[in-house]
Amino acid sequence: MDKPVFSIIAPIYNELENLPLLYARLREVMDQSGELWELILVDDGSADGSTEVIRKLGAQDGRVRPVIFSRNFGHQIAVTAGMDYSRGDAVVIIDADLQDPPEVILEMIKKWREGYQIVYAIRTEREGESWFKKTTASMFYRMIDKITDVKIPLDTGDFRLIDRQALNVLDRMRERNRFLRGMGSWVGFKQIGVEYKRAARHAGTTHYPFKKMLKLAMNAVTGFSAWPLQVIFSIGAALMGLSVALLAVFLLLALVAHFDLTWILAVWLTVIFLSGLILCGMGILGEYIGRIYDEAKGRPLYIVSEGPSDELDPTRLNQPNPIKEK
Ligand code: UDP
Ligand code: MG
Repeated sequence: MDKPVFSIIAPIYNELENLPLLYARLREVMDQSGELWELILVDDGSADGSTEVIRKLGAQDGRVRPVIFSRNFGHQIAVTAGMDYSRGDAVVIIDADLQDPPEVILEMIKKWREGYQIVYAIRTEREGESWFKKTTASMFYRMIDKITDVKIPLDTGDFRLIDRQALNVLDRMRERNRFLRGMGSWVGFKQIGVEYKRAARHAGTTHYPFKKMLKLAMNAVTGFSAWPLQVIFSIGAALMGLSVALLAVFLLLALVAHFDLTWILAVWLTVIFLSGLILCGMGILGEYIGRIYDEAKGRPLYIVSEGPSDELDPTRLNQPNPIKEK
């Protein structure tokens, strides 16, 4: 098969009832694009028979390329595998449950042709999701925006188009705890959003229970900010300051108003002071751990979108273990 222009990536975890419609709608939309395309179906350890359907689709249509995991590795890893196996000039990541309408892909392609390298989809409305899910999701996006160092567009999911140039950089970011949206913002390049209405799931229920969402939120916070470590230091410093200030006040009262400085008060002040000192110490340790963590992630130091020559690909210099060469 010739090299496709577009690679569609859909992570699949027990989506038996959604697969036939997903394939049909994607095929219809992608045939309208007028370019060669491939559909990478990553089976993330499904146990409901999705695997067989994926195999069958692959046998029927040469453009469908199954990638079948040995067990469930999680959504973000499944998407990453799809990116690794993709061959297109641009990839589109889409959920398999048809919450992301395939028709939006045509709009993304339009923006890509205008020269945008990452086109993310912004949810203006969400249908068929519980009040709890919507509220926690909304809080999640806003919290991430406050805490982390990268600007992650509000109300965007993983539904997006990524150009090969940006994808090559993402491919080299092999961090284990992945938050692809953050990584997508972090790499930069020309980005733009298109708006869409998030539909209800076509069939089945969410595979993102509260526990998985919490884990993703932790990945987002720890992957892109040192805030939790810094906050410890600030609390410690505040406690130390407080104990010293209180001591000064009590001493002054003792001198001026003959206030009785009891030993129990002195013990309290000492406890507050020492707690503050310990927290500060932990904060300092945290600062070092944060730096070790940064080194361990081994992200590129910088990413060049246009350079004087293509002999040197600077993104490679800092990546000891590029897993594939394009
Ligand atoms: N998914 C996956 N592995 C998992 C959980 C989910 O590949 O461990 C897939 C799932 O099949 C779907 C997409 O990730 O295509 C989004 O999951 P889901 O619809 O359950 O999340 P929600 O839309 O409720 O946030
Ligand atoms: Mg969904």
